[in-house]
Amino acid sequence: MKATKDTVVTVDYRLTLPDGEVVEISEPGDPLTYLHGYEDIVPGLEKALEGKAVGDRVQAIVPPEEAYGEYDPEGVEEVDRSEFPAELELEEGGTITATDEDDDEVEFLVKEIKGDRVVVDFNHPLAGKTLHFDVTIREIRPATAEELEHGHVHGEDGHEH
Ligand code: ZN
Repeated sequence: MKATKDTVVTVDYRLTLPDGEVVEISEPGDPLTYLHGYEDIVPGLEKALEGKAVGDRVQAIVPPEEAYGEYDPEGVEEVDRSEFPAELELEEGGTITATDEDDDEVEFLVKEIKGDRVVVDFNHPLAGKTLHFDVTIREIRPATAEELEHGHVHGEDGHEH
C-alpha cells in the first residue's frame, strides 16, 4: 500500500529549520497520523510523501509557499493597550489566543509593547520559513468512508466523536 489520496498515513517525523533549530519531533511511539490528500499536513510535505511506502524515509525541504506561506508585513498591527482586557497579561514575545467575530480561535504574537501601544503579529510562527522534514512512514491503511466524509482521521490518534 502506498501513501496516496484517501489513505491514512502514520509517520515519525522531525521538523527543523535551515539553521538546525528543532521545531518539533514526534515522540517515539507517538507518531503523527494524517489523512493523505486533504492538506491535513503542509502541502509540500504531502507532495513529498505521495506514492511512498511503509518503511520509506523521506527528507524534504519545503519552501514557505508550500508550507505556512510567506511572512506578511500587513499581518503586523499596532493597537491600543485598552483594546485588551485589563487583566490580560501582555508580555513581549508572548502568544495570545483570542476569538474572532466568527468564534474562530486566532493566535497572535505580542511583538513589542510601546507604552500604551501594543504591536501584534498575526502571522503563523512558521510563516516565511523553509522547513526541513525528516519523515519515516510507519503505517498506511485505507481511510474509512466516514473519515473521508469528515476529511480527518478517526480513532486513537484522530478525532473522537
Ligand atoms: Zn470526524
